[in-house]
Amino acid sequence: MKVLKFGGSSVANAVNIQKVAGIIKRGSEAQVIVVSALGGVTDQLIKAGTLAEKKDETYKEVLQELEKKHLDTARALLPVTHQSSCLSMVKQHFNELEEICNSVFYLEELSLRIKDRMISFGELLSSKIISAFMLSLGMEHEWIDSRKVIKTNSNFGFAAVNFSISNDLISYTITSSHKKLFLAPGFISSDDHGNTTTLGRGGSDYTAAIFAAAINASSLEIWTDVTGMMTADPRWVPNAKTIARTSYQEAMELSHFGAKVIYPPTIQPVMQKNIPTWVKNTFEPEEAGTVIESAGESSGEIITGISSISTIALLSLEGSGMVGIPGFSKRLFEALASEKINVILITQSSSEHSICVAVNTADADKAKTVVDNAFEIEINQGKVEPLKIEQGQSIIALVGDKMRSHTGIAGRMFSALGRNGVNIRAIAQGSSERNISAVISADDVKKAVNVLHEAFFETTYKQLNVFIVGAGNVGGKLLDQLKKQQSFLLDHLNLQVRITGIANSRNMLFVDNGNEIDLNNWKDALNNAQPMQLDAFVDTVIQKNLRNSVFVDITANELVANVYSRLLSKAVSVVACNKIAASSSYENYSHLKSLAKEFNALYLFETNVGAGLPVIGTLNDLRRSGDKVSKIQAVLSGTLNFVFNNYNGSKPFTEVVKQAQDEGYTEPDPRLDLGGTDVMRKIMILAREAGEKIEMEDITNNAFLPVSCFDGSVEDFYKEMGKQEAHFKALYDEAAAKNCKLKFVAQYENGKASVGLQHIPADSDFYHLYGKDNIVLFYTQRYPEQPLVVKGAGAGADVTASGVFADIIRVARV
Ligand code: ADP
Ligand code: ASP
Ligand code: MG
Repeated sequence: MKVLKFGGSSVANAVNIQKVAGIIKRGSEAQVIVVSALGGVTDQLIKAGTLAEKKDETYKEVLQELEKKHLDTARALLPVTHQSSCLSMVKQHFNELEEICNSVFYLEELSLRIKDRMISFGELLSSKIISAFMLSLGMEHEWIDSRKVIKTNSNFGFAAVNFSISNDLISYTITSSHKKLFLAPGFISSDDHGNTTTLGRGGSDYTAAIFAAAINASSLEIWTDVTGMMTADPRWVPNAKTIARTSYQEAMELSHFGAKVIYPPTIQPVMQKNIPTWVKNTFEPEEAGTVIESAGESSGEIITGISSISTIALLSLEGSGMVGIPGFSKRLFEALASEKINVILITQSSSEHSICVAVNTADADKAKTVVDNAFEIEINQGKVEPLKIEQGQSIIALVGDKMRSHTGIAGRMFSALGRNGVNIRAIAQGSSERNISAVISADDVKKAVNVLHEAFFETTYKQLNVFIVGAGNVGGKLLDQLKKQQSFLLDHLNLQVRITGIANSRNMLFVDNGNEIDLNNWKDALNNAQPMQLDAFVDTVIQKNLRNSVFVDITANELVANVYSRLLSKAVSVVACNKIAASSSYENYSHLKSLAKEFNALYLFETNVGAGLPVIGTLNDLRRSGDKVSKIQAVLSGTLNFVFNNYNGSKPFTEVVKQAQDEGYTEPDPRLDLGGTDVMRKIMILAREAGEKIEMEDITNNAFLPVSCFDGSVEDFYKEMGKQEAHFKALYDEAAAKNCKLKFVAQYENGKASVGLQHIPADSDFYHLYGKDNIVLFYTQRYPEQPLVVKGAGAGADVTASGVFADIIRVARV
């Protein structure tokens, strides 16, 4: 004989109930069918009762809607000839419900006893409608009133089953019947006085397990709306996979820590009788689902699943008076038990200074009163602090039988959480070593589940959530490159790069959680998106709280550079094309670097020097591997290179500069390039990355641009430059006379940095440097005479975008 339980969504409406009947019909052996209330009905019944208690007459509307739902379902299921008795049964039940609610309304009181009576109607109605439907299909069966066979104490709302009586009643009812098919309402039971009790929310699973154990069923099948127990809640983790097989113990841990697919007490009765329990999908009945049975060889995975409880409160009892004195924990737990407060997790520090327990949010105030009472004397003597309550917490648990025989699981768990800025408040590891659980902020729980799922199950790929500010020329190129590379990254680096937010100076675009921006039409979408507001953009990045988040700044805007610290403090990595932050005060630069370190994020700015060339990356690699930089020589301005490569006196200097500007090689104000400021910033960034504490004032600038050029607007500057043509020509001629070229060279040596024009002879590394190329020579302990050279295009939207791209990928690979 088998027991099958169909949950609320499986019996939510007529169409689903027809599917259920189909599944029952397939069974060849005798079966007991346990059903929940139609989906959502228990919640609505509670709502009606609570409204009535608050003297809110709208409870009547709630009841009316519920009545209609049941009548409609019965009408849709039954042929007209079979309808009348079922419809009058529904009406009669609702009359009774209304009378109960009216009394609650007048008395303004909803006791737990009356509440149980009210909510029992959900399962009574569903089972009776389904019974009528089965009869109309010729499926002969016996309807069992679960209240008559499952006896409990009078703990309304969460009654404890008296197994010795219930087992006998159930087995007698079934063995004394000649029927082979039975149907019973889940969730409901009764106490010694005949009052209706319930087994706790989600308790229909438990009803089915109680039946299964009482009759020694060959199997129990829990039919629900997902294909089995999964590696995580599929509503949160789209990649969650069905667990093919799991042990009773693992299933118990997973459900205890929040895997709602099975109500936790369900496992105990079937485990005692060793009854294999299946979790199957009513909507995909052919899928195998999960089998829960005694431990044996299990699948290869060390971790079976991840579960979480979203809303708990953390209670801490602390005080010096607790050290070494036995009985403190006993008193704490007795106090909690006296109020029937369920303790979900316990940790005690080895110093015995504090005990931390997690309880349901709703129990926290009650716990405070009862515990402070129990320790009143010690609190008054100052030996123990009043109970501390932290609301807004969650528990996340990693579960697996095989954890016992593997080391490093906790390390992997906590480093994955740490990398994503999830702060851990308390940790517990069951002595069975079957689970590791941690208390974290409720704001982080969804991210944490995904982080752990990625760390333990998704060996297939890692997800990066990218937010881009500055979707102009370089930003546009970056998005193009990302679009082209997406499938390559997935196939070759197992990396899913999702663009989750884009902004330009006008608008900002975000997509809902779980989605990504379609890179085929991001421009249109951005044009039609909400107006850009930097603070709101940053708030959204932080509030979305997605794993592996990267903020990409492709602006030259100081306000954007000012938000990095907020982001890094939330473990969001920053990739900056914007030079402002790295070339701001040393204090700010090093603050950002240390924030990144502290919060396990990355702050990368490779494109600040040499666009896409691997300059900073090379320097970092040299230092990380123990090398010491003694000197850097470089030509770092694509603009100046372009200008001096194209100027020989035949065309005025102004025109060459104008051309550079028109081709997009200069800053909006070309004086930043020509005056040397841009090169100063770059050599300063390199010196800082080489370990030097250096500021802009420390850099000598041997400027070649006459001072008069710095006055006025950009237009004035061009005019003045025209007047100074003789000066530029003289610079050129002087170099040419020595067969030299002019290059604007940056140098760092012995803690000093300088920039300025130099005459470059033909045998120099700098001589053959064309177009907008950059070159950097690193002289180090390992490269004392022949420097390590990085050379190539040092400006241009495409190469800059590819440098930013490389930084983004670097974030994923740490
Ligand atoms: P029923 O009404 O059939 O009893 P429930 O809503 O109680 O169904 O339980 C099924 C739901 O449990 C699923 O829809 C899923 O969202 C949730 N769930 C949470 N954790 C898990 C998990 N680890 N595996 C499968 N489902 C889970
Ligand atoms: N109907 C009850 C509830 O919603 C029991 C169940 O569905 O398992 O909690
Ligand atoms: Mg359920």
